[in-house]
Amino acid sequence: MTFINVIIVGAGPAGIGIASLLSKTDIDYIVLEKKEVGSSFISWPENMEMITPSFPSNAFGQMDLNAVAPLTSPAFAFGKEHLTGIEYAKYLSKVEALNEVEVETHTEVQSVEKQGNSWIIQTNKGKLICRYLIWAAGEFSNPQMKGIAGAEYCIHSSAIERPSNLEGDDFIIIGGYESGVQMGLWLIENGKKVTIINPTKVNDLQTSDPSKVLSPYTLEKYKKLKQSANYTEIIGAVENVLKSENNYCVQLEDNRLIKSKQKPICATGFSLVKKPIEQLITLRDDGLPILNEETDELLNQRNIYLAGPSVRHGNHIFCFIYKFRQRFGVIVEDILNKELYNVNDIVSLVKIWKYNGLYLSDLSCCDEECLC
Ligand SMILES: Cc1cc2nc3c(=O)[nH]c(=O)nc-3n(C[C@H](O)[C@H](O)[C@H](O)COP(=O)(O)OP(=O)(O)OC[C@H]3O[C@@H](n4cnc5c(N)ncnc54)[C@H](O)[C@@H]3O)c2cc1C
Repeated sequence: MTFINVIIVGAGPAGIGIASLLSKTDIDYIVLEKKEVGSSFISWPENMEMITPSFPSNAFGQMDLNAVAPLTSPAFAFGKEHLTGIEYAKYLSKVEALNEVEVETHTEVQSVEKQGNSWIIQTNKGKLICRYLIWAAGEFSNPQMKGIAGAEYCIHSSAIERPSNLEGDDFIIIGGYESGVQMGLWLIENGKKVTIINPTKVNDLQTSDPSKVLSPYTLEKYKKLKQSANYTEIIGAVENVLKSENNYCVQLEDNRLIKSKQKPICATGFSLVKKPIEQLITLRDDGLPILNEETDELLNQRNIYLAGPSVRHGNHIFCFIYKFRQRFGVIVEDILNKELYNVNDIVSLVKIWKYNGLYLSDLSCCDEECLC
């Protein structure tokens, strides 16, 4: 069995970002990726774009919001603010090449077992053994349609590769967050009628945190959507989706029925891909892993870390790249400390990571709301 000190699972922004930091140390590591680098982004529906804007602000100590490694900027690489999924995947490949990141593609991690102080990783290509495991498998390959009876009569928004191939004129979208609004506006602009069903008024909350309300980019789209005569918004919780000979019918908790000839589109988000490590996770009330606040290790486990959009600490939601990248340095620092890396070298690295927004250890700062 081959021993590698650090195994990172997943070659998305989390995996490639952390690997880029490790590539500047002499710790041996490998990224195992079941498909290819940036595969979640490659699979986005063609009409979807990054919500967070990119800007090459790096030289002034504010790394491009969508960058995952120092000296890189998606805005600079593609000359635009809102990259498509394909473009962002290409950006990740550029980061991989720049930092000579070690990635083994088409390698799926199937199970993870503890053996003494090591982790045994079973992949489709054989077994590996490592001391540290960083779980960066993302959420995209685990679309959520939870709590909706009859979900089999729906299609998840992420499964619509080409919205231009959708047949019909009248669509129901369940969920009024980023993907639902983006898909809704695209359909309206292409001459369709759209009904969005959401449990509360879309964008009802008063907060500046885009993890809780629509980002400014999508809010602009939502304003356009609301002006269209072809747009209907229904506030209600979906209980059931039924299918009759000619229609799909969405039943709300208060028994209202909304019908359409097309399959309802579930824009109901994603949840952490966790099967191989499920047995090692202690869950919070919201179904996400409890993490050690200092290191992002899974609670009651040693040397197994979570990176990516499912990271939560208290009320802090790290679901955007510019948020979760701030924990990359915290994870790598913990590994370097445990490997008894030279203290002065760690201090120098942390300084670089902090400057680039890749290291945040004091979470008290994240409570601040914008006042205007
Ligand atoms: C339409 C859309 C727009 C978005 N826009 C933005 C935005 O503007 N800004 C932003 O910050 N976020 C955005 N997001 C969210 C963002 O895409 C995710 O937060 C990000 O992809 C998470 O990165 P990750 O590396 O954790 O996961 P991923 O990018 O999903 O990468 C995980 C990788 O792990 C691999 N993998 C999974 N399981 C295994 C396994 N068992 N073995 C080996 N490999 C495995 C997958 O193949 C995948 O390549 C958007 C999401 C969508 C769907």
